[in-house]
Amino acid sequence: MEGDLRRAIARMSGMDEPIAFPVCGCGFPAQLKISWSNDNPGRRFFGCKNYGSLMYRSCRFFSWFDPPMTPRARVIILGLLKRLRADEVQRRKERAAELDNFVVWLDEKQALE
Ligand SMILES: [Zn+2]
Repeated sequence: MEGDLRRAIARMSGMDEPIAFPVCGCGFPAQLKISWSNDNPGRRFFGCKNYGSLMYRSCRFFSWFDPPMTPRARVIILGLLKRLRADEVQRRKERAAELDNFVVWLDEKQALE
């Protein structure tokens, strides 16, 4: 869905060229956001900055910024995300175990005093 044809130009950090931000029905330049859905992980899109707010809830402006992803890129990114999450869960378990050991050690120390 395309808003009106007004555009706001802005230079984003990490990008060589300025980006033309579409202006949605609210009259504000849309925001560049990142999708983390399974269909489009990491793909950027323009969305209304008021999306979900009570005042502007009717605005559902949406427009892709990045081109469609190849099925291969999708599989690779989802695989990497899954591995990152598994690593994070493992780290949290190890940290919890460390804290448990610490608490047990404190209990034993207090029992001796
Ligand atoms: Zn809007």
